[in-house]
Amino acid sequence: MIPKLLLVLPCYNEEAILHLTDAKLNTFYDELISQGLISAESKICYVNDGSRDATWNIIDRLTKSNSRILGVKLSKNFGHQNALLAGLFEYKGLFDCYISIDADLQDDIYAIPPMIEKFKEGASIVYGVRDDRSTDTFFKKFTAESFYKVMQWLKVPVVFNHADFRLIDNRVLTELEHYREVNMFIRGIIPTIGFKNDKVFYKRLEREAGETKYPLKKMLTFAWNGVTSFSTMPMRFVLYFGAFSFVLSLLLAVYVLYTKFAGVTTSGWASTLLMMAFFNGSNMMAIGLIGEYVGKIYEEVKARPRYIVEKSTPLEA
Ligand code: UDP
Ligand code: MG
Repeated sequence: MIPKLLLVLPCYNEEAILHLTDAKLNTFYDELISQGLISAESKICYVNDGSRDATWNIIDRLTKSNSRILGVKLSKNFGHQNALLAGLFEYKGLFDCYISIDADLQDDIYAIPPMIEKFKEGASIVYGVRDDRSTDTFFKKFTAESFYKVMQWLKVPVVFNHADFRLIDNRVLTELEHYREVNMFIRGIIPTIGFKNDKVFYKRLEREAGETKYPLKKMLTFAWNGVTSFSTMPMRFVLYFGAFSFVLSLLLAVYVLYTKFAGVTTSGWASTLLMMAFFNGSNMMAIGLIGEYVGKIYEEVKARPRYIVEKSTPLEA
């Protein structure tokens, strides 16, 4: 069987690189089709995630001049994860396998043929894993790898150094639709779905044009969302910490009573002040942390749509 592939690329303000990406992908598709690796009906889908530049105009033009290109336009910016979901679900059931990749092609497209091979061998999920980050800055490498380490330590089921470059088959996509959480951390969800999976290793390349859409603040928000979506360990720490300080305060009470009855006089205000500052601080922190989870529950309970599609290229089954 020659599989029908859909490549999904979320695009946010990518006017600087989209033409380059599209040219590369088309040449690449031609190669894959002539090698008989993918079917000639395979397509490429660009999802415009509410870009403020000419990204949608470019996508729109591409869909009109090339039947291989599909475009999905979201009504505003919904974030990388949601844009990805929008592209996948929009064409659910119409392809044999789906590969998600960033629009800057920092994830090596030459990892795609081995992904397809593994799919043909029966894998429903193939993770792209970066085993060489030599082109990343020290800062990016350090923050990214610490992220995966912390996640694994918190028992979040992520695959080390795997981001959102992966192949899934139609079956997995169908199951993915049943995961209804509003704040979807896709790379944590996929490993919980099951089915046969495999990995392909590749080298992360440099962004050739445009800038990163993941500045530090967004990266932190993303990481924190990943943690709180999968782990209540931070709350457990607060509990442990509370228990620890409770025991400490009992010991302190013994000491205070002893000094009182033994008639040892201490001025005492420094220690009082210290304790107050310390425990007020930790109380605030604990309440804030619990608030984070309550906020998350609030978001989920409202169950607002994850994204809104304004328009998309129609495709018949
Ligand atoms: N992206 C998106 N919506 C956003 C932010 C980013 O669709 O709100 C897309 C972006 O266009 C790119 C991908 O997500 O295709 C990854 O972003 P980027 O390459 O800037 O992140 P980095 O590789 O630096 O982590
Ligand atoms: Mg990138």
